[in-house]
This record gives sequence, C-alpha cells and structure tokens, in this order.
Amino acid sequence: MNSDRLTINNEKRIEISNHELLIRKSFLSFTRTASLYILIIFILLSCSKTDSSRAELALGTVCSVTLFEEGKTSVYEEIFTRINTIEILMSVNIPSSDISRINAAAGIESVQVHEDTFKVIERAVFFAEFSGGAFDPTVGPLVSLWGIGTRDHQLPAQDEIEKILPLVNWRNIELDTETHSVFLKLPGMARDLGAIAKGYAADEAAYIIRKAEIERAKIDFGGDIILIGIKEDKSLWRVGIQNPGLSKGNILGILQMQEKTVVTSGVYERYFIKDEKRYHHIFDPFTGYPAESGLLSVTVISDISMDADALSTAIFVLGYEKGMDLLTVFPGAEAIFVFEDKSVRVTAGVDFKLTDESYWIAE
Ligand code: AMP
Ligand code: MG
Repeated sequence: MNSDRLTINNEKRIEISNHELLIRKSFLSFTRTASLYILIIFILLSCSKTDSSRAELALGTVCSVTLFEEGKTSVYEEIFTRINTIEILMSVNIPSSDISRINAAAGIESVQVHEDTFKVIERAVFFAEFSGGAFDPTVGPLVSLWGIGTRDHQLPAQDEIEKILPLVNWRNIELDTETHSVFLKLPGMARDLGAIAKGYAADEAAYIIRKAEIERAKIDFGGDIILIGIKEDKSLWRVGIQNPGLSKGNILGILQMQEKTVVTSGVYERYFIKDEKRYHHIFDPFTGYPAESGLLSVTVISDISMDADALSTAIFVLGYEKGMDLLTVFPGAEAIFVFEDKSVRVTAGVDFKLTDESYWIAE
C-alpha cells in the first residue's frame, strides 16, 4: 500500500488460461517487469492443462489467483473488482481513499469510512494492543520520512526521527463503532495499513472463491498466500518460502501443509543499503529505525490471512522470544523464524524442509 500508486485499469492485467499468455500492454518499470516474469514462469510451471490464473498489479504488489479448474472468468472478475475496491479505499497513495482522508484530517476532525476500512482499522488496533505496540498502524510518518522502497529513500538524521516519533502511537487513534468514524488525535499523524491490508484482500478473495464452490485454488498477493481445498492426489500443499538472503523467487525451503494461509514479513521486501548496512521497511515504532531483532524473516501459518499478516509484522519487530509469547496465545498459529546467523527455527506443527544448505535448523 505504501509503494507507488499503480493505475487501476485493464491494461495491467495478465491473463493466463490454458497456458495462453496475454500481456495487454507493457507499462511496467524494469523491476516490476522482472518480478512479473518470475511470477508468470512460476504460474506456467505449476498449472496443469485445466488450470487458469490471473495476475494484476494492485495493493502495491503482484496479486495472483489460480483456480485449479477451467474457466470461471466471472469469479476472476469478482475477485479483482473486489481487490481494486479495497485498494481505492485503503491506499495511502490515492488522495480520495479513506486512509488519505483520515490522514488529511489528523488533529482536526474525525472521518467516516467504509465498513471495509473500519474493519481493517479495528483489527489493526487490536493487533497494536495485542503486540504491546510493536505492530503500530500509525507508522505513516516514519514510512514517509525514510521513503524505503521509493526513489527518495534516505537515512534520516536522529533529530528528524525524534521529532516525528511522538506521532507514532496507536493510542492516539479514536474509533467510533456506531458511525464507523476514525480520528487521529495529533496533526501530522498518518495511518498506514501496509502490514495488514493485503491479508484482508486475500481473505476477501478466498471468500469469493469458496462462495463460488471452487474446490481448489491458490491466492498469492505478494507473499500473502492462501491455499484453498485439498489437492487432487490428496497430497499436502507445498509452498516455497522466500530465501531472505537472495532475490525474489529464490527459495529457502519447502513448507508442506493443509488448507491454510502463509504470510511472510522479511528484510528483502523493500530496503536500501548504505555503508554496507541494510535499512528495510519494517519499523520498530519505539526507536523509529528499521527493526533489529536478529531476524531476517518471519513466516506465520494460520487460518486468517489478515491476522497472519499483522502477526508476522509484529513478530518481526518483537524478535523470537517475545514473538513466541504472542504466538502461543494466538490459537492455531505456527511460524518459521529465519535469523541473521542463518539459523532457522520452526514451531511444533510446521512441516518444513530446508533446500538452501547454507542455513540450518536450530533446536
Ligand atoms: P509487512 O511486509 O506485512 O510486514 O508490512 C510492512 C509494511 O507495513 C511497511 O512497508 C509499512 O508500510 C508498514 N509497517 C512498517 N512497520 C510497521 C509496524 N511496526 N507496524 C505496522 N505496520 C508497519
Ligand atoms: Mg504484515
């Protein structure tokens, strides 16, 4: 949500049906084109003759859906219309979005929002409290100051960070559940739902797929994955987990699982390097700097993608011990932790096989 605004029109759509690929118009920057090609190769390799997939750029990432059945154009239409609606409501880069209106009215007045936006904000506030503030949907001023993932990224001066840090505090959000209104108490505060909205959109796509009684499907919204149904041969779903030390598309290992959602937060997603140090996009709301918890990535496996999305971000900030404390009180959630020293820890219910031998599983 915090990346460049992407035009919402049919020209960004890629349709892959029975291995026929139609790229309607080339408008992407080199980086985006490269990541799309990787995605397309992946889709082609993983589709059988009767599968179909569709991918679009939305929510600041490539959103792809594979229905393991032929046709279903109307289901794709419904899913991508829904995703675009969510983007129009929640993107910080669209001036008329609910989030932009809330931010513009910070310190002035409360703003009535769509029930979708309110639902996501309420859940974000729940996770802010649940994580003791490690997850904080008011990180907007830090996201803007650092500009990570944009051409204007910078390492800000300490006093600039200190100046805006008081604006980052979820306790200064006021919610009115009757009117679906949101108020940011201090001028200059800014909401950012980048750590949770993709998960919500993935859940909504899954809802549409289940409603259409499609038996098997895969949703992948830039690393927020949902697997629906049971594979035809009854074997477990296999999901490649991104190798946090390598470029996108290179895996660290394979996760095998039943119908679930898998969401990863990692240092590789958006970052810049200065003086050999990596500055990534997940902030510690208490220091104002990219979180340094000894982790390279955290993958959360759970039932609801929005929750897994918020949890993976929160746990990334908190680190292993405190992250485990959160996980153990969150019913049904499992995790894979990848550490800077290349050790990997998995929780008891996870079936994960490393494929990169430079990493190792720690007890
Ligand atoms: P994710 O990749 O889901 O972990 O989300 C990272 C994105 O969420 C960033 O690009 C920011 O837009 C936002 N963000 C960064 N740090 C935090 C945080 N501590 N709490 C909530 N959102 C954050
Ligand atoms: Mg997240």
